[in-house]
Amino acid sequence: MKAGIVGLPNVGKSTLFNSLSNAKAQSANFPFCTIEPNLGVVNVPDPRLQKLEELVNPERVLPATVEIVDIAGLVKGASKGEGLGNQFLGNIRETDAILHVLRCFDDDNVVHVDGKINPLNDKETIDIELQLKDLETVEKKIEKTKRAAKTGQKEAQKEYAILEKLKEGLEAGKSVRAIDIDEDDRAEFVTPLQFITDKPVLYICNVDENSAVNGNAYVEQIKEAVKDENAEVLVLAVGIEADIAELEDFEERQMFLEDIGLEEAGASKLIRTAYRLLNQQTYFTAGVKEVRAWTVKVGATAPEAAGVIHTDFQKGFIRAEVIAYEDFVKYGSEAKVKEAGKLSVEGKEYIVKDGDIMNFRFNV
Ligand code: GDP
Repeated sequence: MKAGIVGLPNVGKSTLFNSLSNAKAQSANFPFCTIEPNLGVVNVPDPRLQKLEELVNPERVLPATVEIVDIAGLVKGASKGEGLGNQFLGNIRETDAILHVLRCFDDDNVVHVDGKINPLNDKETIDIELQLKDLETVEKKIEKTKRAAKTGQKEAQKEYAILEKLKEGLEAGKSVRAIDIDEDDRAEFVTPLQFITDKPVLYICNVDENSAVNGNAYVEQIKEAVKDENAEVLVLAVGIEADIAELEDFEERQMFLEDIGLEEAGASKLIRTAYRLLNQQTYFTAGVKEVRAWTVKVGATAPEAAGVIHTDFQKGFIRAEVIAYEDFVKYGSEAKVKEAGKLSVEGKEYIVKDGDIMNFRFNV
């Protein structure tokens, strides 16, 4: 799972990236690792892992992770190749979700590219670049579909109509995710085209320290503007969060957070929100060698969950032994869960639930 940070220059993208990469609160076993200067892996915070660690006492604990890429350099004109525009847009295409940072803080010392603070305008500037790119995609597809539609092929006509609707929407400044299209048609004709503005988006309102808890007027504008989009809005004081993330000591960090009225670090909140946005859930494997959290789509079947570990597990899937997290905690060990008759043996149709502790049987 990969999320890309976008936004105009000077809104706090790299500060956010650094605060995530510094999030020492995460785990000593699997610290954030920076793969490239703008690419990092961050742990999905999950208190259930600690509980499982206590009960199983494994050699190691591995949390689920999300890859974060800082996509700097999006500016007005990027879709026409200005700056390093096209390259950056290519990077965005590879992500599963977009973290769109908006400057919602006043600070005369930090220059704004347009000279004044207006997060709504900023959002539009970025959106327009992304929409223009998607417009190119849809226009190409329309060219290809045209002939088949003209010769009267029913399916092609339907597709053509949907593409036209997308084109109109994009031209009117709408993102693909906000264009009203029937769910089945979307799955058939829209999703395969991998539009940038169809990706789930999380708007991160970067506020000053004093607005970290309740937001401010800029945040309200953004919330109002995106209410028809399938999007989430998160208020973060990125600057102060970055300072806090640098502190070595957990207690100290917690104290500073409480000082500004927060219960948990922004990094944790952000990752959890992104997870929800992407419709992901967690299942666990819990052996003496390793306790580990795995990421799987809500609604995934047992073989699909096995496939997250290894494609061979999915291909050769026979069955899964499943324990609900609550039962594991209640009875304290796999053996005791079995004794209590709470271990269930599930087949190919089983739909994985969040927190399931799974053990797969498979042919190789
Ligand atoms: P980027 O160009 O979007 O990556 O922006 P940066 O992260 O480099 O931030 C630009 C400038 O804004 C830097 O000087 C940061 O220290 C400052 N900055 C970032 N976040 C905040 C914030 O929440 N409040 C204030 N006052 N300054 C911030």
